[in-house]
Amino acid sequence: MKKKIWLFLLVFLMLLNVTYWYHYVSGIDSVDEGEIRWWWYTKYSSLWWNAIYKWNTLGEIYIWPDNSQTYEDVRVSDVYYPDETWRWERAHWRWGTDTIKYNTYTIDNGYSWYVPKTIIHELWHALGLDHSYHWNIMYAYPDSQSYLWNQDERDYDYLWWN
Ligand SMILES: [Zn+2]
Repeated sequence: MKKKIWLFLLVFLMLLNVTYWYHYVSGIDSVDEGEIRWWWYTKYSSLWWNAIYKWNTLGEIYIWPDNSQTYEDVRVSDVYYPDETWRWERAHWRWGTDTIKYNTYTIDNGYSWYVPKTIIHELWHALGLDHSYHWNIMYAYPDSQSYLWNQDERDYDYLWWN
């Protein structure tokens, strides 16, 4: 009996380690020479700014509005598609500006506690991160998470820290 408990503990610890060391990255990002320059028109602007502000404090990737001297890496916009079920759509182009579209119809008719994550999650994809697990912004399913969790930051560091 005791042996079984130790075996269980060992496997549990190994799984913890796997979770810790595995990195949830997609290999597809909108980062261009250490920065993401974006332009936009979205009604969720305060959530957007809030997210940008937090991530710029991480210090590796500069996420800031596009201007006449920079290249527009991401274009953010709102769309209104009542016939669609998707809340957002992100497109990555080898050449040209990537796009993030928020469907205001589905977002505004859904749970209000899910809105912050809806807005923030997409930009985290633009940094090259893939879906991870519960508590993180990169968990793929609806919840009220609105700030970065351990795995989000570990994956960011893994990709961009140098
Ligand atoms: Zn996602």
